[in-house]
Amino acid sequence: MIAHKKEFGPERAQLLQYLRSSAKILVFTGAGISTGSGIPDFRGPDGVWKRRQPVYYDDFMRSEAARIEHWDYKLEGWAGFRDARPNATHAAIVQLEKARKLLAVVTQNIDGLHARAGTSIGKLVELHGTNSFIECQTCRTRSSPEPHFESFRQTRRPPVCKCGGFLKPATISFGQNLRAEDIKQAEEFASKADLVVALGSTLSVYPAANIPLSAAARGVPYVIINRGPTEQDGFREVTLRLEGDVGDIFPSAVAQAIA
Ligand SMILES: [Zn+2]
Repeated sequence: MIAHKKEFGPERAQLLQYLRSSAKILVFTGAGISTGSGIPDFRGPDGVWKRRQPVYYDDFMRSEAARIEHWDYKLEGWAGFRDARPNATHAAIVQLEKARKLLAVVTQNIDGLHARAGTSIGKLVELHGTNSFIECQTCRTRSSPEPHFESFRQTRRPPVCKCGGFLKPATISFGQNLRAEDIKQAEEFASKADLVVALGSTLSVYPAANIPLSAAARGVPYVIINRGPTEQDGFREVTLRLEGDVGDIFPSAVAQAIA
């Protein structure tokens, strides 16, 4: 059943039925679930990429000027990420886990809000990395962001690891491959799920958008909830499509399904 109507009667009933009858739900999330937490959508008309050129990973590794530009860009957004709080959608996903219905969360988001909301780390794959840590590009040691941003703010010098490696927020940069172990883990979850729900993603960024599709290709129900079109609308794997803000639809459905 594919639906694009504002009337959620039958679609909502179908969503509830899916949530009630599933025990291994794979939730796939994108930027649309975090706008309610004040995280700006950097791709939008007022997005940062209208003002800045993204720093590619190779340039970051090669050039001090590129590292300064990247740290300056990350510093600009840091307070917003640090102060963002999970919203009702993140909380609803935690409720699914407490109800023993959640297999995993695979997210494109770098805001760290699933972890902050309480989703277990073992059930969470952050495909595009996270702003919650700084990572050494040589020894992979992770550390807390605040001291590094404070240091950069004062000195304008990009921080360096004790090992001599370059430190960078632990997000996947432009031109940087996703971590192979993250892809592998996400694919494993996709191979075990009995329901896949994509929330707030336009499903246009690959390879991430392959994850829900590969679960659905096995014949399990595939629900897409998003405000605005997605690139997988109309795919035969999609069994239910709800149009609208995820926060208006998903949390109340979860509450009703696990009550
Ligand atoms: Zn290091």
